[in-house]
Amino acid sequence: MPGGANLNSRHPLRLNVGFLLHKNVGDGCNFDFNCDSVRVGDDLDVKGLQGSIHLTRTGQGLYAHGRLQAQTSLVCVRCLTSFDQQLTIELDDLFTYPPDRASDPLLSIPEDGVLDLNPLLREYLLLDIPIQPLCRQDCEGLCPVCGSDLKKTECDHPHTEVDPRLAALKALLPKL
Ligand SMILES: [Zn+2]
Ligand SMILES: [Zn+2]
Repeated sequence: MPGGANLNSRHPLRLNVGFLLHKNVGDGCNFDFNCDSVRVGDDLDVKGLQGSIHLTRTGQGLYAHGRLQAQTSLVCVRCLTSFDQQLTIELDDLFTYPPDRASDPLLSIPEDGVLDLNPLLREYLLLDIPIQPLCRQDCEGLCPVCGSDLKKTECDHPHTEVDPRLAALKALLPKL
């Protein structure tokens, strides 16, 4: 069975599944992914996409089951540095074939037998991106006094707790 050989290096997320559609119900095939960098959909760049998806022929189409991992570059909301966020998606979906009007366009296989995983994976990856990305859970962020990145440097000025009312006043004073 061809399996991963079906992967097209220019379009790694487009799978030629035509041969599977002619198999008996219950037959399946594994697709392995290992891409250094890939654009998912039109706007999402990920690196190190890895994992495998098993497709099984069912009476309704192809049932996909698998797990993929990738990293995407995000900016930490606390320290404003970019970092690679690990994303993981679990696939557990039925792609219908033949496609009909009632089927979800993200979850149907066109007549040509080329299953494009881009739109679905984009949706799943976006769901896995945190709304408030943190380079690490305990990121200390930037120093409120001098603005340096606290995980890289220790400031040489004292870090006394500033009374928030005084801090507000200080902010009103002209910078020297
Ligand atoms: Zn950070
Ligand atoms: Zn500082």
